[in-house]
Amino acid sequence: MDGSLVPVVATGCEDFMARFRRRKVVLVAGGAGFVGSHLCETLISEGHSVVCLDNLQTGRIQNISALQAHPQFRFIEQDILDRLNWQGPLDEIYNLACPASPPLYQRDPIHTFRTCTEGVLNLLGLAKATGARILQASTSEVYGDPEITLQHEGYRGCVNTVGPRACYDEGKRAAETLFWEFGTHMGVEVRIARIFNTYGPRMSPEDGRVVSNFIVQALTGADITIYGDGMQTRSFCYVDDLVAGLKALMASETSDPVNLGNPGEFTMRELADMVLRQTDSRSRLVQCPLPVDDPRQRRPDISRAAARLGWAPTVPLEEGIARTIRHFAGELQVSDPCEAL
Ligand code: NAD
Ligand code: UDP
Repeated sequence: MDGSLVPVVATGCEDFMARFRRRKVVLVAGGAGFVGSHLCETLISEGHSVVCLDNLQTGRIQNISALQAHPQFRFIEQDILDRLNWQGPLDEIYNLACPASPPLYQRDPIHTFRTCTEGVLNLLGLAKATGARILQASTSEVYGDPEITLQHEGYRGCVNTVGPRACYDEGKRAAETLFWEFGTHMGVEVRIARIFNTYGPRMSPEDGRVVSNFIVQALTGADITIYGDGMQTRSFCYVDDLVAGLKALMASETSDPVNLGNPGEFTMRELADMVLRQTDSRSRLVQCPLPVDDPRQRRPDISRAAARLGWAPTVPLEEGIARTIRHFAGELQVSDPCEAL
């Protein structure tokens, strides 16, 4: 973890080149989770030194097992609520530490809220002490149950402060405020990514979110659980696209919140049909109660990400779902239905 420089050819613009070629020391909090493990993998593949800090509340060691032997990767099992003793240089912090699945973040709501506030304060303190740039994995949940069809960053949202989702939604809103304050008054370089529903390989089969639920149910022949009438919408982003967006935001000069998501909008019934079709499954659709405060719609306006980061998602839902099915088929050791296609 020496943050050393990659040798640069003497071209007369060494300083400029060194800035871009410098191997960074990066802390990924929540790095053993679904998104975090993909981010760690990408950063390692680019030659950076990565410290993954995770309490394994919803993350899994198997997500990072391929990285464990890498000399530039280190895993620390720790809660971000606990004091962080950091020695040496630190260039960047990605804070992804927080359960993202509604049933999981509601299991210990006070801890979820503390993760988003006290935990975030700890990481912001570390950023201030080390001079590291810090990125917060915020969420489309800051818009709550939105009253506008295309959610842009200027929309202030419609969130219930006292419902079962509040520990997460309000926690993430408070975290954005802390980021903004540290950015505005404490000289910390902050980045805020408002992430919309993201899916892909390494979601846990027990995670409880809709994509993993539907795929696991279809592959095992279990009933597909449609909550409510299934006409609520979500916009699903493939994980590789999100990781590219997070890195572009970190590298950018924008401290304003930026939506990262795929604007393609689907009802949960459309998603179920797609999964059933791709798995060639005979699972039945069954209707279950709609969770309290479940947002009716979600679709990101990504014009800010396009203008400031030059970013747009590239993986269509059909293709991303096929890749995710392949992953789950391997993990659950059932035959891959896409192979026959
Ligand atoms: P995940 O649950 O798979 O990963 C979260 C990781 O954080 C897990 O490894 C977990 O063990 C760890 N963690 C939780 N609380 C912690 C704590 N107090 N201290 C240390 N580690 C802790 O979820 P994910 O889908 O990978 O989401 C990653 C981040 O992105 C989360 O902050 C989430 O809020 C945000 N986000 C994700 C989505 C999405 O659709 N995946 C959407 C919006 C926002
Ligand atoms: N959902 C569903 N069946 C499931 C899990 C979720 O119909 O087995 C619905 C859920 O009610 C919500 C949508 O799918 O309307 C997305 O849920 P998820 O938990 O993935 O994410 P979030 O609600 O946080 O967007």
